[in-house]
Amino acid sequence: MITIPAAKPIIGDDERAAVDRVLQSGMLAQGPEVASFETEFSELVAGRHCIAVNSGTSALHMALLAAAVGPGDEVIVPSFTFAATANSVVLAGATPVFADIDDFFCLDPDAVEAAITPRTRAIMPVHLYGHPAAMDRLSAIASARGLLLIEDAAQAHAAALAGTPVGGFGIAAAFSFYPTKNMTSGEGGMVVTADDEVARQVRLLRNQGMEVRYHNEIVGFNTRMTDIHAAIGRVQLTKLAGWTAQRQVNAAVLDAGLHGVKIPKVAPGATHVYHQYTIRVPGHDRETFVEQLSGRGVGTGVFYPVPNHELPSLAPYAVGVDLPRTSLAAAECLSLPVHPSLSAQDLERIIEAVNAVAKAGA
Ligand SMILES: *Cc1c(COP(=O)(O)O)cnc(C)c1O
Repeated sequence: MITIPAAKPIIGDDERAAVDRVLQSGMLAQGPEVASFETEFSELVAGRHCIAVNSGTSALHMALLAAAVGPGDEVIVPSFTFAATANSVVLAGATPVFADIDDFFCLDPDAVEAAITPRTRAIMPVHLYGHPAAMDRLSAIASARGLLLIEDAAQAHAAALAGTPVGGFGIAAAFSFYPTKNMTSGEGGMVVTADDEVARQVRLLRNQGMEVRYHNEIVGFNTRMTDIHAAIGRVQLTKLAGWTAQRQVNAAVLDAGLHGVKIPKVAPGATHVYHQYTIRVPGHDRETFVEQLSGRGVGTGVFYPVPNHELPSLAPYAVGVDLPRTSLAAAECLSLPVHPSLSAQDLERIIEAVNAVAKAGA
């Protein structure tokens, strides 16, 4: 029995041809492919400035630095996310403040309000699993309290809330093109911003602080994207809409077929792009559930078994913090395959396996 993988990057002849074109040009570093990738990606985010970098983590880090978030500032983040979210805050010299999540696995606006202190500078919602965070309420809180909104959109290319695409809400947003994300460039990230000065600062930061060569204005990094990666990303971007639609169709099939587990909820007005299709298995031992699915040839992922505020690296920023909804999600969640390569038979096998394991009372 062939196991259905939890995730599967789709790399085809078009990507190979694009890489070959760059290799033949002999110009491998940041160049025309990166510039075109930035222009093309901006169509996804309401025409905002796009600045390509070498990873989603760099995109978050540069966005914070460019928005002048740093030492003495607190940034409210979810704990139920990949560690890169809070890591970027720490790397910028600021302090992550962890807040609990809502029914959609994203920052709970009430928890955010309760976490605000005189030192709060920014809120960093994560559009986890491809579901947009409650940006309507978070935007209202941010503007009422004079706070910056910086979106972690690493998992949510083309997700939207009430028609506004993620990346289109905050002063800045960060996307990732890691291979398991909804589109890839190999490794890579994109900073998105509507603010001219933030855009300029990110361009400086990614290139040693230079706008004009050898006239360095600030101390910066080398977080550039190569033309090889951008060429892959450009091809993938042309396929994103089709892949997203397929993820949504696959999710609808799973929604209709699964019994005995809690299927993912979608907020009113939300366009979910199903980076992950994440179920909850309350009353079951999650590890046993995962093992039994694996025995039936269904790959799964657990994102994330340890919430950020309990990680050895980040716990020092969370002394005395208790996030009951986060802890429960970390114990109950598992993600089923939803990627666009699944066949109808694959979906049928996933549904049969989950229903059987749920019924057996793992
Ligand atoms: C993947 C991811 C990142 C980091 O992206 P990289 O490209 O791997 O650096 C940040 N935040 C979240 C929520 C992610 O899933």
